[in-house]
Amino acid sequence: MDKRTGFPTVGMVGGGQLARMAHQAAVALGQSLHVLAVAADEPASLVSPDVMLGHHTDLDALRRFAATVDVVTFDHEHVPTEHLRALVADGVRVHPGPDALVHAQDKLVMRRKLAELGLPVPAFTEVASVEDLVSFGDAHGWPAVLKAARGGYDGRGVWMVSSAAEAAGLVPELLAAGTPLLAEAKVEMRRELAAMVGRSPFGQGGCWPLVETVQVDGICVEVIAPAPGVPRERSQAAQEMALRIATELEVVGVMAVELFETDAGLVINELAMRPHNSGHWSIDGSRTSQFEQHLRAVLDYPLGATDTLAPWTVMANVLGAAETPAMGVDERLHHLFARYRDARPHFYGKTERAGRKVAHVTFLGDDLESLREKARLAAHWLSHAVWLDGYSIH
Ligand code: ADP
Repeated sequence: MDKRTGFPTVGMVGGGQLARMAHQAAVALGQSLHVLAVAADEPASLVSPDVMLGHHTDLDALRRFAATVDVVTFDHEHVPTEHLRALVADGVRVHPGPDALVHAQDKLVMRRKLAELGLPVPAFTEVASVEDLVSFGDAHGWPAVLKAARGGYDGRGVWMVSSAAEAAGLVPELLAAGTPLLAEAKVEMRRELAAMVGRSPFGQGGCWPLVETVQVDGICVEVIAPAPGVPRERSQAAQEMALRIATELEVVGVMAVELFETDAGLVINELAMRPHNSGHWSIDGSRTSQFEQHLRAVLDYPLGATDTLAPWTVMANVLGAAETPAMGVDERLHHLFARYRDARPHFYGKTERAGRKVAHVTFLGDDLESLREKARLAAHWLSHAVWLDGYSIH
């Protein structure tokens, strides 16, 4: 409890952009997000006055941090599950709790649980030897998708393995490095979608519209809310499925269910139990953002309305260019605003590096094609200081 304000305090483990944007939402709720960050220059460290430096794999640091807050939550999945259990045993309120969070930390645990619940997942198996992968590939077809069960993000930790020979060249090295592995059948997908929900300890649930996430090289570059061209019954079914998963796993906070759309229907890719890139659009495009909803949920407040503020919202990620442009980011922002008065940029306070997510920009309105075009041009402009359509700033 913050004695000065009378509000309980939320502590977030991890100081990345999700914590930074959660802090922004916390301010409106009378809060100031407490952050356990590994460095003083992380995105959230730069904006929250209540930063403790410490590593999320260090149980002592986690305990010291937990002692300063009323509830502990996360901006990533990388806290060892046994540390979370130790905190719970100490009496710390941990949301989402370890029994839920493990399904977002470990892809094998998640696959087994969702399969047990009868939900649509690709064929999968644990890989503890080259033979495991080879017999899986022979049975389900090559290429097979090999994944690190823990620790991957943005496609790191995902390998398309096209033959037994390739498996023999890859698997022993990964196992020797201690990487737990699983194999999945390669899903022939039309596109990727995501269903975002929030759930409070009281059991209240809420969902946002199903969105389309456009990926390039394993990285999400654009999100369209709602996902265009999805029949009403299919999007409703996806929302109900996400709510059911949240209920079955007793998730507290927000959860993104990443989905593949196939000719035969939706297949679940993975779960994230925290605010997620696929929900950034909600800051500008929904009555309640995913960040506010996450805070409401972990504080056991009633959840907020998730209706949208425009027919379409399009978010584009701003990724660092291969070569940082000579024009400074301040001047790029100036020109962005000069061209688009309705651009909604969100910067993460990160230095620019090739492929790094440094910001996102959102547009909302009635005409999807023009919003997509604006978002694409604006994000590219912010990364590269080049207007792809030849627009002149002079
Ligand atoms: P990460 O945890 O690194 O985000 P994912 O498991 O989401 O990894 O996989 C990253 C990307 O790899 C996905 O967005 C998708 O494009 C592709 N992918 C993952 N699993 C499969 C699969 N079973 N079939 C086809 N493509 C896949």
